[in-house]
Formats: sequence, structure tokens, C-alpha cells
Amino acid sequence: MLPPRPTNRFMLPRCEGCGKFHFYPRPACPHCGGARLAWMEPSGRGEVYSHSTVHRAPSAAFKDDVPYVIAIVKTDEGPHLLSRVVGVSPEKVSIGMRLRVRLGDRGPEFEPEA
Ligand SMILES: [Zn+2]
Repeated sequence: MLPPRPTNRFMLPRCEGCGKFHFYPRPACPHCGGARLAWMEPSGRGEVYSHSTVHRAPSAAFKDDVPYVIAIVKTDEGPHLLSRVVGVSPEKVSIGMRLRVRLGDRGPEFEPEA
């Protein structure tokens, strides 16, 4: 069983049996069924797997943010995450674009790799 996720860090569940990362958190490893799981810090690198640009704010809290990019990020360790892509114009985001994690006010987000 996983303990609560540490805050203010980018962490993913990792199986201590087979060494593979996974996401979302669950009681057993989806690769080998092992139950010895821990939060580990992955490389923080990945690439755009798919993306979409939000032009209409879903609520008033996002009105200053549009347009912004929501993407499925394929991390280098394997798990796919839904995240915002920041630090780049939405029209410049493309499938395969290399990304690195950035800890923003809203938690982990991804930005283009320098
Ligand atoms: Zn495993």
C-alpha cells in the first residue's frame, strides 16, 4: 500500500519488485502484481503524446489563462499523465515535443525541454 504522496515534488508510484513506474496510484503493480510500492522521483522528462488547446475558460478561475494547452505527456519512464504544457505558445506545441516537469502553483506542469 502506498503512503500519501509527498507534496511539492514530482513523484510517481514505483514497484520495488520489478522497478517499473506506473500511474495512476493503485494497490498493486500493474506490471507484476507486486504490492511493495513507493513514491519515487522520475527523471521529470517526457514528450507530448497528444494535446488540445483550451480557448474557452471552463470557469472564471481560468479566464486569465486561456488559451492554454492540455496534453497527455508520455514520461520517459512510461506512465502517461494529463498535464498542462506551459512556457510555450499553444500553436508551437506538437506531438513528440520534448518536455520537462516544472513545479507550478497548481502542482506539476510540463514545459519545453531547454
Ligand atoms: Zn512490479
